[in-house]
Parts: sequence; C-alpha cells; structure tokens
Amino acid sequence: MPKATRVVIVGGGVGGITLAKKLNTAGLTVTLITPTEYVEWAPGVLRSLVKPAEADRPMAPSVTACVKHATVVRGKATSVSSTEVVVAGPEGHVSCSYDILVIATGGRYAHSSTSCFKSPDNAMLFQERVTQVQAKAAELAAANSVTIVGGGVAGIELACEICENFPQKKVTLVSKGEIGGMLHPKVKKQVVAKLTKTPSLTLRANTLVSPDAELPADLQADQVYWTTGFTPNTEFLQGGPFAAALERGLVKVDRSTLVVDGTTNVFAIGDIITPGLMEAPFNSGYVTQQESLKLAKNVVAMAEGKPLKPMGKAAMKRGALISLGSTSGAGHFDNTVLPQCIVTAMKSKDLFRKKSVKAFQS
Ligand SMILES: Cc1cc2nc3c(=O)[nH]c(=O)nc-3n(C[C@H](O)[C@H](O)[C@H](O)COP(=O)(O)OP(=O)(O)OC[C@H]3O[C@@H](n4cnc5c(N)ncnc54)[C@H](O)[C@@H]3O)c2cc1C
Repeated sequence: MPKATRVVIVGGGVGGITLAKKLNTAGLTVTLITPTEYVEWAPGVLRSLVKPAEADRPMAPSVTACVKHATVVRGKATSVSSTEVVVAGPEGHVSCSYDILVIATGGRYAHSSTSCFKSPDNAMLFQERVTQVQAKAAELAAANSVTIVGGGVAGIELACEICENFPQKKVTLVSKGEIGGMLHPKVKKQVVAKLTKTPSLTLRANTLVSPDAELPADLQADQVYWTTGFTPNTEFLQGGPFAAALERGLVKVDRSTLVVDGTTNVFAIGDIITPGLMEAPFNSGYVTQQESLKLAKNVVAMAEGKPLKPMGKAAMKRGALISLGSTSGAGHFDNTVLPQCIVTAMKSKDLFRKKSVKAFQS
C-alpha cells in the first residue's frame, strides 16, 4: 500500500478549519496545528464586548470535535523547514513532517488595547477565552468616554456597537484619512451617513495620531482602542526556506492556485496572503471559506500528481459587509452595492456567529 501523503495545515481559524474538514480523503493524513482548544469566528468578537453574556457565541469549544478525521497538534508554529514544522505547545516542542504544507495563520491587531479581539496568546482554553473577553467588556462598560483610532471596518463596527449599546458614552472615531476610505464609494457614503446621524459619536477624519505619543487632550478618553496595525502572523516563516515569499509580512502566492511563490508544495490562504486584508480587493472570512473549499481539491490533485485547477471566478469575488450595530449595515460584492436591509439581515443581526460556528461543527 502506498504511503499516505502528509498534509500539514498551520492555523485553525476560518481557512484552516474549513480546509481540514474538507480534506477527509483517503490517501491523505491531515495534521492541523493550532494554539487554541477552541475555534473562533473573529468577526463576532466585537459584539461580545458589548454583550458579554454572548461571549461564547462566536466560538466552537473544541477544535478536535470540529475536525474529527485530522490529528490536532495544539501549539504555535515557531519555524518551518522544507520538510517539517516545529511547534511549541503545552507538550513542549514537537515536529510535524509534511509532503504538502498549507499556511493559514491569519493576523492580529498589533496594539495591546485590541490584541485580544483576535484569539490572543494568553487564552488558549475555551473558558479562559470567554473570561478574557468578558473582562475586556467590563473595562468598556466602566468607561464614560471612548476613543477608537482607525477608520477601517473594525473601527467603524466597534464604534457602532458601542454607540448602540451604551448611548450615554461619548465615543470618538479617529482616522488618519477618510472614515471608511477603503470602501466602495457608495457604501462609504451610506456608512458615513449612519455615523454622522449617531448623536453620541464624533468623527475625526484626516487626523494623524500615533500609539507612541500622547493623544491630544480632546482625544483622550477612559478607553482608547487602536484598530490600526493589522499584523500577519507570519514571523515563524522568517529566516526559513519561504522567507523570500514574504512582502510586508504577507505571503506572496500565485492568486489562481494559492501556491506560495518559489515553492511547489506549499499553499497559503486567508488574511496572510497578498494584497492583504485592508487593501482592495478585500480579503474576508467569506472569501477565505470559499477559497478553502477550492483549495481542498487542489491539495488532493497535488497529492495525486495531477495538475492544479485555477480557483475560478466565484472564489475570487471580493466584497465587504459592514455591520453598523445590530439594526443597520452596508456593503457590496465586487461592484454591486447591496440594499442596506439585506446587509442588516445577512450580517448585522448576528454577525454570522451562529452560521459560522455551525459550519465549524458540521
Ligand atoms: C472586526 C472584523 C470584522 C470582520 N467582519 C467580517 C465579515 O463580516 N465577513 C467576513 O467574511 N469576514 C470578516 N472579517 C474578516 C475575517 O475575520 C478574516 O478574513 C478571516 O478570519 C480570515 O481567516 P484566516 O483563516 O486567514 O485567519 P483566522 O480566522 O484569523 O485564523 C488564523 C488562525 O491561525 C492561528 N495561528 C496564528 N499564529 C499561529 C501559529 N504561529 N501557529 C499556528 N496557528 C497560528 C490563530 O490562532 C487562528 O486560529 C472581519 C474581521 C474583523 C477583524
């Protein structure tokens, strides 16, 4: 009997889990490396900050239960060679040998005020994570004034969640350029219209501030959140055989197959691939899910020595759905602007929490 092809996936978020679930194929042994006991739908976490009783809603408590046919290695990849990944985890250091490698480690917010918005290092267990998010929610609840720096999707969504749930708090949203400047022009107009109509919210566009300097007096607040500085989790690739494929921390891939530049058996997917999450054409959890399903077919094709198929148009679609609290939203798919009521029903009401966790667990 021929030896099974060893597929190692690094990162158990949207891309890694979707792919691992789909690779339930004879002839493959699949290993998923991920630091946390749980799987989290990152876009749902902002609502946990204003509704702490729902802190477990964007989470599937057990990664092992989500990917039953794969071996889960708990820990963080610390380095990669052309044949194995070294992982630091609760059991110490272990090595995972691969024939095919998939990198799906996503990104994080660089600043300590927001780093826990995306699965942070110090909450590896499900209950620890719930407690951590609830503690962050308590800090917010106690604040009378809030400044959010960053006029991108996360900053806008956070401002709207806070204003809707705590209308008595004074909230200021600061952006170095336009608020929502990266959005489709019509969507940006809808978003800014909603923000401008929110009485407790002050908008400060074209205002440059730095986390390394004190904020001007009029921007100081009880709580300051920096939603800037989204950082790809790719440090473990530096100094290794794929370092040449890194550009500003992002991994350069062939967009049609997701094969990492300069390699023949390494793929990358999700927020870590160029052009990057906050740059058009936008990446997203939705696109990552769709591309993971297509990537699964190419991983199998590679294992069988067959040619890879292009991702195709459907998977390449780009869009942005912005929740503006739970009762309003705005968004587009490619150049089609969606009716706001559709975005509200699709995203804002639940932030895809139930749907996404169900998909992780199905
Ligand atoms: C506020 C906000 C709102 C959003 N709204 C939406 C939305 O409405 N719709 C949408 O489609 N998308 C949305 N997104 C984007 C979406 O969350 C991401 O595009 C998606 O999570 C990317 O998936 P990923 O697999 O690349 O990364 P992630 O889902 O972040 O997963 C990365 C995984 O890798 C793990 N990891 C990190 N480092 C290592 C390491 N060294 N070794 C092993 N594992 C590691 C992490 O712990 C994590 O489990 C939003 C994002 C934010 C921040």
